[in-house]
Amino acid sequence: METEGVIPEFISEVKGFLAEEEGLRLFELALEACSLGPCLEIGSFCGKSTIYLGVACKIKGRTLFTIDHHRGSEEQQPGQLYFDADLLDSRTGQIDSLQCFRETIQKAELEEVVVPMITRSHVAARDWTTPLSLVFIDGGHSYETVVTDYKCWYPHLLPGGFLVFHDIFLDPAEGGQAPYEVYKLALASKRFEEIPMTKTLGVLRCCGPMVVKK
Ligand code: MG
Repeated sequence: METEGVIPEFISEVKGFLAEEEGLRLFELALEACSLGPCLEIGSFCGKSTIYLGVACKIKGRTLFTIDHHRGSEEQQPGQLYFDADLLDSRTGQIDSLQCFRETIQKAELEEVVVPMITRSHVAARDWTTPLSLVFIDGGHSYETVVTDYKCWYPHLLPGGFLVFHDIFLDPAEGGQAPYEVYKLALASKRFEEIPMTKTLGVLRCCGPMVVKK
């Protein structure tokens, strides 16, 4: 599908760590997945990847659920490598990316498509029952967080749906290994098949039956 004019131009100015090529792949995957059911993202941050997924969902008349506590990941805290002073709430001294996220979603005209869940992923998962066509894992990058996100959400994936990880680095010199470790764990379960990556976007297709029945 031709993406020119479909993805809003201001996306290049939205804060985030997603390459354009990765975003366009997310868009294409969501477009395909939407024929099965709604999509879910973990790690909304300022809404960059939410736009790519959300525009696809909007085209197909689907919903995109997106989870983030909006308090920033480990490496975004004051004094850490990815700290951004623009996101510091001066009243609380805490990171707060929610306002930035809301502005992005409003500007992208996705308020009727995107359902934000302002919480941690395991809390959102507790009473979840809706089958999903795509789960994008891009929240905290510690092993404990990524493995929790995986265990909480893969059971809701529909057969044929996609499990997508951001920040898969095959070479440890390139970046943290937690997402890749969990990616390999998913593959070892034999529930998924590997399909081609786009930069650091690892893509698995669910080939097993649903763990949580509809
Ligand atoms: Mg990422």
